Amino acid sequence: MKLWKRLMCICRRRSPWLFHLNAGSCNGCDIELVAALSPRYDVEQLGARLEGSPRHADILCITGPVTKNSVHAIETVYGQVFAPKAVVAIGSCPATTNVFIDSRTLDGPLARHIPVDVYVPGCPPRPDAIIQGVVHAAVILAERGKDLPPMPQSESAPQEVQP
Ligand code: SF4
Repeated sequence: MKLWKRLMCICRRRSPWLFHLNAGSCNGCDIELVAALSPRYDVEQLGARLEGSPRHADILCITGPVTKNSVHAIETVYGQVFAPKAVVAIGSCPATTNVFIDSRTLDGPLARHIPVDVYVPGCPPRPDAIIQGVVHAAVILAERGKDLPPMPQSESAPQEVQP
């Protein structure tokens, strides 16, 4: 593996950036995710941080049982995260739709719409379990980065901006 690719794999494993999407959760899992980011559990010591835009993120963290209204947002946001990317389903809701399974407002589980790499079970899962899930996703991310083709070279020279 080339030195640059190896460096990128190390960076992805040691510093994954997260984007959080609520797909109709009761906010229990969201509170635990926020706790994982707080100084008490301190996921930032692993280099992970929450990003405001999916275009800047490597890992998509999804909570909630996937309501019909959230499906379009999930697919759009998944498409906006650049490859290589990984998806973490936080809580029992995205994995199974949990106790809401018979609800007519749901279109879950999450795996029906996008590929899921890591499931963090629990209702809600503890912050430690969420951190463990993020670490697993970061390892998957680094592995995926090895298979990426090199960046395409621009055919035209950079344009000079006229004053
Ligand atoms: S898994 Fe439990 S805590 Fe999390 S969103 Fe579903 S019902 Fe709420």
